[in-house]
Amino acid sequence: MSTSLEMKNIQKFYGPLHVVKDFDLQIQSGEFVTFLGPSGSGKTTALKMIAGFETPTSGDIFLGSRSIVDLPAYERGIGMVFQNYALFPHMTVAENVAFPLTVRKASRQETAEKVGRALQLVKMDQYSGRYPNQLSGGQQQRIALARAIVFNPSILLMDEPLGALDRNLREHMKIEIMRIQKELNMTVVFVTHDQDEALTMSDRIAVINEGSLVQVDDSKSLYRKPKNRFVASFVGESNIIPCCVDRAESGMGKVTLAGIAPGAAQLSGQTDGTQAWLFVRPEHVEIDVRCAAADTPNALDGVVENALFLGEMTRYLVRCGAETITVKRQNRGQAHFSGGTPVTLSWKAEDCTVLN
Ligand code: ADP
Ligand code: MG
Repeated sequence: MSTSLEMKNIQKFYGPLHVVKDFDLQIQSGEFVTFLGPSGSGKTTALKMIAGFETPTSGDIFLGSRSIVDLPAYERGIGMVFQNYALFPHMTVAENVAFPLTVRKASRQETAEKVGRALQLVKMDQYSGRYPNQLSGGQQQRIALARAIVFNPSILLMDEPLGALDRNLREHMKIEIMRIQKELNMTVVFVTHDQDEALTMSDRIAVINEGSLVQVDDSKSLYRKPKNRFVASFVGESNIIPCCVDRAESGMGKVTLAGIAPGAAQLSGQTDGTQAWLFVRPEHVEIDVRCAAADTPNALDGVVENALFLGEMTRYLVRCGAETITVKRQNRGQAHFSGGTPVTLSWKAEDCTVLN
C-alpha cells in the first residue's frame, strides 16, 4: 500500500531562524522524490515534519486526503531510515526488524511471516540471529531498511541513508533501494546532498537552498533547464560566466560575456541591461587551436591551464581573461591540447542560457 503526500505552505522557524520556507509540494503515490540541497538547507527538518518528529510552525501535511500534522509520529504509519542505521545493539537482526510489529502488538505468527519477508527483500534472511555489531555497515543499513518497511508503511522516508557507506557499497545500495521501491510500489522521500544519487534514483528532485524549494523537476529537466544559477551549479558541472544582456528579442538575447566578448544566448525572462550569468555545460563547449578572432558570438580566446586525460574523455580547464572555463571533450581521435596551448572556445546559442 502506498499513499500520496502533500506539504501545503509549510513554514518552520527555530526561534528567529526561518529554516523551512513555504514548502508547497505534492508527491504522487508510488513516486520517488529526492530532497537535494547543501548541508544546512533544511532537508532533515522538512523530513522530520513529515515523520512527526518536528511540528511545522504553520501549514499542513496530508497523507492521501488525511491531515497528519496533529498525529503523533507512531500513528502516522511512516517508515524511516536514518544515516546512522540506529539499530538496537542488544537485539538480534530478527528482533530489530520485528520491533515496529511488536510495538503494534502484531501476533507472533504475523510477526514471523513479515520479518521473514522483509529480510528476504533486503537479502539478509541468512542473518536473522546475528547482532548488529556482527554485521558490516552495508548489512546494517539493509536491516534498518527492512525494519522501516516491515509494517507496510504508507510512505518511506530516508535521510542520507548511504552517507556512511563506502563508494562501491553505495552504488550497490542505490540499485537495491530502487529495486525494492519498484517491487513494493512505495512512495519514497529520499534526502541527500549528493547530486549523483539524486539524478540516478529519483522520479523527481526537489532542489532546496536556504530553506526554499528552488526547483522541482525530473533529472533531465533539472540538468537541461536549471531555473537559476544555484541549480545550474549544484546539479551537474557547469560554466557560469558573468554577462550583460544588451538586447533581448523574443526569448533570445545578444549579450556581452565577462565584459569582453559578444555572445548570444537563450534568455530566461531578462530584459535589456540586465546583469546576469551565462550558463553553458562543459560538454557543449568546443575547443580549437586559436583562430584569428572573427567577431562570432560565444567565442573566447584562452590558454589551456590544465588538461586531464580521463580515458574516454579529456577535461580541460581554460583560462580566458578572469574566467576559468571547463571543457569536456570525448576522445575520438581529436587533437589533444596540452597545458599552455593558446585556444579558442566556442558554443552554440541554443546550448547556453542566461540565468539570474
Ligand atoms: P540539512 O538536513 O539540509 O543539513 P537541517 O534541516 O538539519 O539541514 O538544518 C537546517 C537549519 O536548521 C540549520 O541551520 C540548522 O542549524 C538548523 N536547526 C536544525 N535543527 C535545529 C534545532 N533543533 N534547533 C535550532 N536550529 C536547528
Ligand atoms: Mg540533514
